[in-house]
Amino acid sequence: ATPAAILVGSSRAAEMGMLFRKGEALEALSRIDTVLLDKTGTVTLGRPALTALHSALGDDEALRLAAALEADSEHPLARAVREAATARGLVIPTVQGFAAIPGYGVRGILDGHSLLLGARRLMQREGVALGEFVAQADALEARGQTAVYLAQDGACVAVLGIADPIKPEAAAVVQALHRRGLSVTLVTGDAQRTAQAVADALGIQQVHAEVLPQDKARIVADLQAQGRRVAFVGEGLNDGPALAQADVGLALASGTDVAIEAADVSLARGDLATLPTAIDTARHTLRTIH
Ligand code: ADP
Ligand code: MG
Repeated sequence: ATPAAILVGSSRAAEMGMLFRKGEALEALSRIDTVLLDKTGTVTLGRPALTALHSALGDDEALRLAAALEADSEHPLARAVREAATARGLVIPTVQGFAAIPGYGVRGILDGHSLLLGARRLMQREGVALGEFVAQADALEARGQTAVYLAQDGACVAVLGIADPIKPEAAAVVQALHRRGLSVTLVTGDAQRTAQAVADALGIQQVHAEVLPQDKARIVADLQAQGRRVAFVGEGLNDGPALAQADVGLALASGTDVAIEAADVSLARGDLATLPTAIDTARHTLRTIH
């Protein structure tokens, strides 16, 4: 590839809102055969909102405890919980011993009671029996929502349903990628059922769900070991290693600085629709050169 041609391709791409960090990225993008899409904030809007609450404590009390646990969490789910509590005019107490457990949830102590909030696997890890709440969580997940469990002193006391709408352009983008002969896979830390419902809505056949933050990069490496040339598209706080491992890491520019730092390509305005265009530009540029 001649530097001049790369420059023309890159600047044409920039006009369309794609920023190539290095010239090799354009070439690498022209050769990919596999696209991994992160779920939260990539194919979804990344604006989760509380939609359901099943509680043995009363809704306001459950939400008060959940919001107290999420007070210092940077997770997108945390904001949804805090906003719901604020909307109900609840006064949020301060927890002791707050800890965020990446990929699992959060924990803390309030009025001498130990509290946990997070994924099913957090409850399983801590030996919390889920009882009646499993059926409600399953129903939420079947609709593509995230079910978050609340436990008090080792007993499950509530399940919260949190919905993050799918981006309007996402299904068409997946279709465009398939039409270009690319294999598309959804990758997420979220529950299997939730991920499957989102994948179904988008026409994606391959799903890696319940992936721990540090394991996203390993999924990329495993595919590369099979000879695949992989693009990873993400924006999440934890996606840096996967973006760096991929043959091309593409970050939605509305995402965190950490993710963009590790990425080869930034797609401006968080617009997923620039992805097929970026691939076309790369393929066209390299075809012109060779
Ligand atoms: P993603 O791939 O969507 O970024 P994460 O690895 O951040 O997923 O989180 C995986 C799962 O862990 C979430 O779907 C949620 O169930 C749980 N979780 C993580 N952090 C929190 C939190 N602060 N509050 C509630 N649940 C959480
Ligand atoms: Mg994340």
